[in-house]
Amino acid sequence: MVSPQQPPLVMPRTLRAVVVITLVAGCNSVVLSEYGTRVAVSRSEDGSARGRKVRHRGVDFKEWALGDPVLAAADGVVRRVNFDDCAGVEVLIEHPGFNRHTFYIHLRQASVRPTQRVKRGDIIGEVGLYRCSGGVVHVHMELWSFETLPRQGAPRDDLAGTEDPLRHAAGCFNSNKQYPTDHLVLTYPVKC
Ligand SMILES: [Zn+2]
Repeated sequence: MVSPQQPPLVMPRTLRAVVVITLVAGCNSVVLSEYGTRVAVSRSEDGSARGRKVRHRGVDFKEWALGDPVLAAADGVVRRVNFDDCAGVEVLIEHPGFNRHTFYIHLRQASVRPTQRVKRGDIIGEVGLYRCSGGVVHVHMELWSFETLPRQGAPRDDLAGTEDPLRHAAGCFNSNKQYPTDHLVLTYPVKC
């Protein structure tokens, strides 16, 4: 028989939720939103809930405050620096030898210019907050394949020409670490 003094074996629901969130956050806590298609739930006008497929061309990385540095995810050459009303300052970096580009948006300022060479972990700008940031300070990074370089102003929900940056990711940038050079390795574009 269970005595009334014994603590309950089942964790209270709120505590369980906290534990689960902590486990999920874990070492990947700088990744706010992943690449690909997900279902966003919203309310219809008649009050019913409905799911809508939303495509995300890149990965969102958490920044801690406005003005925090944005880092190059791999060695490369800056190909484009642009300002967009919705996305803020955009930086495009080519990674020669890998037929790939990384594209960073929601910067308030870029500290690099086109044709400039950058090393992995170099600061390429400062993070800002724009209409397309969704109210959360973060950097959105995309990985583009060279053959299908999207034109400037391509639709934000079109995955064509992009792939999942996290498939090439090696976590946070560590200046003491040697990274492979025979294939593309991306480090997170934020300090963490
Ligand atoms: Zn995003």
